[in-house]
Amino acid sequence: MSYSYLSHLDCPQCGETYGADSIQQLCVCGSPLLVRYKLDILKEEWSREALLGRKPDLWRYHELLPVLDCNNVVTLGEGMTPLLEIGEFITKR
Ligand SMILES: [Zn+2]
Repeated sequence: MSYSYLSHLDCPQCGETYGADSIQQLCVCGSPLLVRYKLDILKEEWSREALLGRKPDLWRYHELLPVLDCNNVVTLGEGMTPLLEIGEFITKR
């Protein structure tokens, strides 16, 4: 299994494609680029059980994030917004 199934970037306006291995900005036509993933391969290799035991943060879904090497992950622990009882929230203010 790959850490990320990142494939390439493409333009939703003109269809131009770009490699994901170099820094890209906008397409030559001015449109923002979309990140594409190898979903067909991911579907074959991944299962829900892969999530078990992972930390409860954004990076538990690393297969669909555009970072190829786990050593390049930068995080402040974001993700998994907790549910709070509204009464508890009001009394703390
Ligand atoms: Zn374009």
